[in-house]
Amino acid sequence: MQYDYLIIGGGMVADSAARGIRERDTTSSIGIFGADSDEPYTRPALSKKLWTDPEFGRDQVPLDTASDTGAQVHTGTRVTAIDRSNSTVTTESGESHGYGTLLLATGAEPTQIELAPSPRVVYFRTFADYRALRELTKTADHIAVVGGGYIGTEIASALSLQGVKVTLVTSDEVVGGHMFPPSLAAVFDKGFADHGVTVRRRTKVTSGAEASARVQLQLDDGSSVEADGVVFGLGVRPNTDLADAAGLTVDDGIVVDELLKTEDERVYAAGDVANYPDAILGRRRIEHVDNATEMGKAAGRNMAGAAEPYAYTPYFYSDVYDDGYQAIGSISASMSTIEDWKSVGKEGVVYYLDDQSVVRGVLMWNVWEGLDTARTILAEKKPQTEQSLRGLI
Ligand SMILES: Cc1cc2nc3c(=O)[nH]c(=O)nc-3n(C[C@H](O)[C@H](O)[C@H](O)COP(=O)(O)OP(=O)(O)OC[C@H]3O[C@@H](n4cnc5c(N)ncnc54)[C@H](O)[C@@H]3O)c2cc1C
Repeated sequence: MQYDYLIIGGGMVADSAARGIRERDTTSSIGIFGADSDEPYTRPALSKKLWTDPEFGRDQVPLDTASDTGAQVHTGTRVTAIDRSNSTVTTESGESHGYGTLLLATGAEPTQIELAPSPRVVYFRTFADYRALRELTKTADHIAVVGGGYIGTEIASALSLQGVKVTLVTSDEVVGGHMFPPSLAAVFDKGFADHGVTVRRRTKVTSGAEASARVQLQLDDGSSVEADGVVFGLGVRPNTDLADAAGLTVDDGIVVDELLKTEDERVYAAGDVANYPDAILGRRRIEHVDNATEMGKAAGRNMAGAAEPYAYTPYFYSDVYDDGYQAIGSISASMSTIEDWKSVGKEGVVYYLDDQSVVRGVLMWNVWEGLDTARTILAEKKPQTEQSLRGLI
């Protein structure tokens, strides 16, 4: 096949890019080649709404990319090589397809330890992982969740709300301690205790084994955890191998310019896999859904000739038990913070500052307005104080 627009990766960026292309070009052909067995779908629902919202069903997960855009979506089709001089890609089965313009939307892959994925060992990323975990919860009394980042905390909360006994293994002393100031981390941590989650702190899993329908995990403090299954949320690595092999510049992600173009005029990259120059925050790679949808759309529009710089600074969000937060920029407990609470741990804003007291990140806890104000504060790049920030959001 020859496609005017060919997208590698069938995730959230593929969907938004196809929509972006269609905003400017209603007739040309779009081909999407995705390794996933499912058509593009909304990934955040896998660790949130599908567990917490009884009104939200599996049928609401697909993004309806093919029917809405007319793109030909090839699921279960991994692209193994790009030939830029002939403008073709090759798939795992050896088929070759031509492109006019190419988008790399290969996303990211979960970090694994030396324990093979199985129905009891889930490195959580895909709709199929969700289905496998749901299946496991039908028989499992006890599931271990490894990783105290947003995937680990969301899955631990989701499982405990299903009545499953959960052990959460985290390298933090207090859950959320790597991101939140101590006042907030203490409240966040208590949420897990209140829902019966056992937390194994300041420790990492070093190895694991599966035997007799059980999983045994060894921890670096010398102890172990045994459970009916385990879910890992150990972070992700961008899928840059294809780009690398095709001779494109890769530096913690595929390097693109403000038009989301690589050094090859006809090759773009967007989403979790792209390293782009953010207008406010500087060059970076972002692993969040708002970025995937906005950057994907912008890349699609530019592939169809828009030539519009991507000037949007994305936010990210997470929901755990009854709390939710959204944030922009760098959020790390290693930075100094200024806290502006209406009620500590219930509603407020945390500002993350660098050594010059310039705000580099803004966290809004159960606060659902103020993203534009946060962007303005970040863009000003001027030293701030408690007085200057209080009440701004
Ligand atoms: C469970 C979960 C919950 C999340 N919740 C939130 C949230 O609450 N808030 C938030 O901001 N972000 C969240 N995220 C992050 C967000 O979903 C991602 O940032 C977003 O999906 C990235 O989109 P993408 O298209 O770049 O990558 P992906 O959606 O990962 O899609 C990439 C696709 O490319 C395919 N692929 C890779 N290599 C190849 C190849 N060689 N050939 C063909 N196909 C290939 C993969 O199979 C995959 O389907 C969550 C992520 C997960 C996993």
